Amino acid sequence: MTLRLRICHLYPDLLNLYGDRGNIMVLVQRARWRGIDVAVDEARLGDRIDPDAADLYFIGGGEDRQQRIAAGDLVRLKRGPLEAAAEDGAVVLAVCGGYQLVGRFYRPAEGEDLPGLGLLDLWTEHPGPGARRLIGNLVIQPEGGGPPLVGFENHGGRTRLGPAARPLGRVVSGFGNNGDDGWEGAVSGRVYGTYLHGPLLPKNPEFADRLIREALSRRHPGIELAPLPDVLEARARAAVLARVTKAESG
Ligand code: GLN
Repeated sequence: MTLRLRICHLYPDLLNLYGDRGNIMVLVQRARWRGIDVAVDEARLGDRIDPDAADLYFIGGGEDRQQRIAAGDLVRLKRGPLEAAAEDGAVVLAVCGGYQLVGRFYRPAEGEDLPGLGLLDLWTEHPGPGARRLIGNLVIQPEGGGPPLVGFENHGGRTRLGPAARPLGRVVSGFGNNGDDGWEGAVSGRVYGTYLHGPLLPKNPEFADRLIREALSRRHPGIELAPLPDVLEARARAAVLARVTKAESG
């Protein structure tokens, strides 16, 4: 049985901040190391997408201006297929600006609200042009256990979750969704949103594997992945954790 991981990267040239594209490279490489075949499709402005053509959809971050360009296209051309894919068990991973756009709406620093996809029950409001941005290293403890997730955040928008979304984790260090309720990210089924850039997946291999496993299990229920050594990955995460601890103690 040949396993195939089918990825769709949305707006690779428009929504891509702080190395978000690296998430795709990690998914591809970790699958290939296990002998899994990988296909990556890119969907840009104006492209239609097929809900059955990919098992993992990725949307990266962007500033308000890029988000405004993407939002109309997302809602008009991608919402239906993404809803269908998510309902059928595909994984959606959305980071920062992309995270804001998979919610109900994003109120940018200036101008009209941007409609969201409504894949996650959340909304985001930017307090305005002069507002303090939430910037720095971010460490969270995932709900449901496992090692901490580490990364970097830089956003003005403050996100609040509605009852149908669960947080991805509890903030250990940094700001997370809004800097005051202690939560970071959101999950509903296999749809994930987070403010973690850096990119997210190289330093958080367990989370990368969770996404790969869930994406493959859409067509291969119960699939398990062979473990990888992850020596460098563990060191990269330890370096971020050490930096955060040092900053907090001194
Ligand atoms: N423009 C959004 C904000 O500042 C998202 C920024 C980002 O993707 N880094 O809230």
